[in-house]
Amino acid sequence: MEKISLKSNLSVLEEKVLNWDSVQGSFEKSFGTEIYSSWLKHISLIKEYNDHVILGVKTRFFRDWITSRYADKILSELRKHKLSINRIEFKIDPENLNNKPTFGSPNLNKVSDIKSSVLNYNRLNPSLNFENFIVGKSNNLSFLSAKKTCAQLSRYNPLFIYGGVGLGKTHLLNAIGLELSKNSKVMFISAERFMYQFIKSIKKNEMVSFKDFFRKANVFIIDDIQFIRGKEGLQEEFFHTFNTLFEQSSQIVISSDRPPNKLDRVQDRIKSRLSGGLVIDIGSPDYDLKLKILRKKISDYQNSFKENPDLQEEVIDYIAKYSNSNIRELIGVFNRVVAFGKMSKKPLSVNDCKIILKDIYNSNKVVSIDKIQTVTSNFFSISLSDMLSPRRSRPLARPRQMAMYLAKKLTPRSLPEIGRKFANRDHTTVIHAVKTIEKLIENNDELKKNVEELKSLILSD
Ligand code: ADP
Ligand code: MG
Repeated sequence: MEKISLKSNLSVLEEKVLNWDSVQGSFEKSFGTEIYSSWLKHISLIKEYNDHVILGVKTRFFRDWITSRYADKILSELRKHKLSINRIEFKIDPENLNNKPTFGSPNLNKVSDIKSSVLNYNRLNPSLNFENFIVGKSNNLSFLSAKKTCAQLSRYNPLFIYGGVGLGKTHLLNAIGLELSKNSKVMFISAERFMYQFIKSIKKNEMVSFKDFFRKANVFIIDDIQFIRGKEGLQEEFFHTFNTLFEQSSQIVISSDRPPNKLDRVQDRIKSRLSGGLVIDIGSPDYDLKLKILRKKISDYQNSFKENPDLQEEVIDYIAKYSNSNIRELIGVFNRVVAFGKMSKKPLSVNDCKIILKDIYNSNKVVSIDKIQTVTSNFFSISLSDMLSPRRSRPLARPRQMAMYLAKKLTPRSLPEIGRKFANRDHTTVIHAVKTIEKLIENNDELKKNVEELKSLILSD
């Protein structure tokens, strides 16, 4: 992504480049030696960009385990070394494990690599395909329409798939991309990436090539379109891209966390385009689907590790029942239980599982509103009494709202209880604060960063 010429390798070194050894050092400190040496130590730095890094891990299992448990904390550790990083990607890279990172190292080969990285966001993940997409009641229709779209281009145009997080939208879109890339020019991008590229092109005066680039796709797949909410300039560009593609009969596939008519702060003309093809929702998995996915995970495990994950039937059943209706979390739970089973060297009982899973969603972490208030006021260098005071100036009101928001998200306290803790405010004030921050998080990266940092400060130690 970065503009790098052969000569500028040295200037790259002047950028703040992560020193992986010292990052590893801080991992060890903050995670403790045991977790560090079982997991974190084995992560390599593959590539460093200004705003994100690509980390290498040996296996999928490793990746899933690390992402489900440590991703947030890894990110916040990395940000201590380089504040501009706001995202981590993991790459399964058994070969490259001990290689040096490419960014900033004087390796000429990488130059073309980075230059051509305009295509990088078009990466399709070969492991998210139709074959390993498990079908159940909740996702059958979206699966069938995805297949149908591949078999008969432009039949449903656009195909619009929506549903909550972790239900398989990206998986399905990726599968469509893989299938169609055999014969068509496929462009697969998240709305967020699209915006990033858009802004970069404006800055670099490259709008013409930006337009060309996206408009020459026969198949245009855009993930998480809700990201364009409230972003006028981006909507404008998206609208034109959409129309051009549509007119030239390119297939368009879109995912979203909500249906088109619920996309508030999106232009009506866009909403109407989005609903003009087939709109289909992907629902939460029921027990049967969760069970099927677990069975598939078990057989994947057997195939990759040539050993059995040793889960008793009642444990599998318990996970299928207990886990939330989110497939990503289900997989996280599975990984966790298997890993503990391996460590304890005896098959786990349902009771063991209950104990292991207790804190998976941080739910047994007791966070008090007092702590949230103290951390937040310290973070913004304001006094606690000012933060709780009735004064409405923004430098006080925003932190106050963030603290209320965090109290709602991180504690089981009710809205009136939270209100009382904030100098006896009404619960409607708390609702307003939560809504305000939720909205801001979507549009204001600075604020989002602050909230994330606060969260990790509050949840640490
Ligand atoms: P979303 O984009 O809806 O948030 P993802 O597509 O990223 O969700 O899915 C989350 C995780 O769950 C991914 O690892 C994905 O492969 C897996 N997953 C989701 N649905 C299925 C499914 N039906 N079969 C197998 N794996 C699935
Ligand atoms: Mg997704």
